[in-house]
Amino acid sequence: MKTLTLLGSTGSIGTQCLDIVRKNREEYRVGALTCGSNVELLSRQIEEFAPELAVTARAEDAAALAKKHPRTQLAWGRDGLIAAARADCDMVVNALMGLRGLAPTYNAIMAGHDVALANKETLVAGGQLIMPLARERGVRLLPVDSEHSAIFQCLEGNEGRQVRKILLTASGGPFRGFSRAQLAKVTPAQALKHPNWSMGQKITIDSATMMNKGLEVIEARWLFDVPAEKIEVLVHPQSILHSAVEFCDGAVIGQLGRPDMRIPISFALAYPKRLASDEPGPDFFGAAAQLTFEKPDTEVFRCLKLAFAAIKAGGTYPVVLNGANEVLVELFLAGKIGFLAIEEILDRLLAKHVPAEGTDLADILAVDEKARRDARAEALLL
Ligand code: NAD
Ligand code: MG
Repeated sequence: MKTLTLLGSTGSIGTQCLDIVRKNREEYRVGALTCGSNVELLSRQIEEFAPELAVTARAEDAAALAKKHPRTQLAWGRDGLIAAARADCDMVVNALMGLRGLAPTYNAIMAGHDVALANKETLVAGGQLIMPLARERGVRLLPVDSEHSAIFQCLEGNEGRQVRKILLTASGGPFRGFSRAQLAKVTPAQALKHPNWSMGQKITIDSATMMNKGLEVIEARWLFDVPAEKIEVLVHPQSILHSAVEFCDGAVIGQLGRPDMRIPISFALAYPKRLASDEPGPDFFGAAAQLTFEKPDTEVFRCLKLAFAAIKAGGTYPVVLNGANEVLVELFLAGKIGFLAIEEILDRLLAKHVPAEGTDLADILAVDEKARRDARAEALLL
C-alpha cells in the first residue's frame, strides 16, 4: 500500500489521479490533499479519502473545513503546502499549476520523497536546482507530462546507449494552420477549446500559443539531460504518439496510447510496475489509422522559438519566460491583452533580462517575482 500526498487535488491532473486511487484502493491511500479555492470539491475529497492533512489557499477556508472534518488536520497557504510536501508518505504527486509548485517539489525532495511531477514549471524555472538535488537525495522524479512519460519509457532499458535526438510531439493546439492575422483576433473562449485534451485553463492557453511545447522542451532538457539542440518538436495532431527517442543507429522508439492523462499518471504512481486498467489502446483501424507529422511553424507560433532561445541562453532566462508567461496568460484570459501580446511582451522581457548570479530557491523566486511585475508593467503600456 502506497501513501500519496496529492498537491493540487482539485485540478485536472489531481482529480484524474484520485480516479486512479478510487479504482485501486488496495494499492493506494491518500495521506494529504491540497487545493486552491475549490473548497467544496476538497471537502468532498476529504470525506471520500480521509487524509490526515488537507490544505487550502486561504485561512478562512481551512477554518471552515476544520469544523466539518474533525479527523483531518487543516493547514493553509504557502506554509501549508510546504508542510504537505514534507509530510510522511511514499510519493508526492505534484499537480499544482505554475511556479507555486517549485518550493513544494524542493521540499518533497529534501524530505526524501519520490515525486510524480506534473508541475512542469518546477523544472522550467528550477531544473538546474532540482535535478542535482534529486540525485543527491536519491529520490525519483517520475514525469507525469504525457510526452515526458513517453520519453522516460522509451529510454528504459537503453541506459548508456547514445541518443541522437528526442522527438517531442505536439498536437498543434486549436490554432494549427492559422496565420498571424488570424491569431491576432482569437478570443479566450476559442483558445480554451483544445482539440484533444481537457486540461486546466493555464496549460490550455499555453497549448494554443505553443508555449506549452516550449516549456516541455525545457522540461525534457532537464529530466533527460539532453541539450535543447537535440530536441525536435513534431506537430502530430492525432496525439497518439506521445513522443519518441531516436538512437545513434537511426532506430526510433516511441510510446503510443490514446490521449488520456490517466495512463501517464498511473505509470508514475505504479513505477516500476504497471497498473492494469480496462481502458483500450489506440484504435489503429479508427482514430489512430492515420498518424501524421508536420514541422512546427515558429514564425507563426513564436513562443516556441522564445523557449528554445531561453534555454539556450540558460541561467535565469527560463525563469523569466515562465513567470512572465503565467501573468500574461492570466491577462489574456481576463480580456486585458490580445493573444499575440503574450509573445510580444515575452520577447521584450527576455531581451531586457540581466541574468541573476545565484540559482538557489530564493534567487529563482526573486527573479520570478520581478518577471511578473515587469510583465504587468509592459501590459499596461500596450
Ligand atoms: P488545474 O488548474 O486544473 O489545477 C491546478 C491545481 O492547483 C488545482 O488543484 C488548484 O486548486 C491548485 N491551485 C491553484 N491555485 C492555487 C493556490 N493559490 N494555492 C494552492 N493551490 C492552488 O491545472 P492542471 O491542468 O491539472 O495542471 C497542473 C500541472 O500539470 C501544470 O503544471 C500543468 O502544466 C501540468 N500538466 C497538466 C496536464 C493536464 O492534462 N491537465 C497535462 C500535462 C501536464
Ligand atoms: Mg504535455
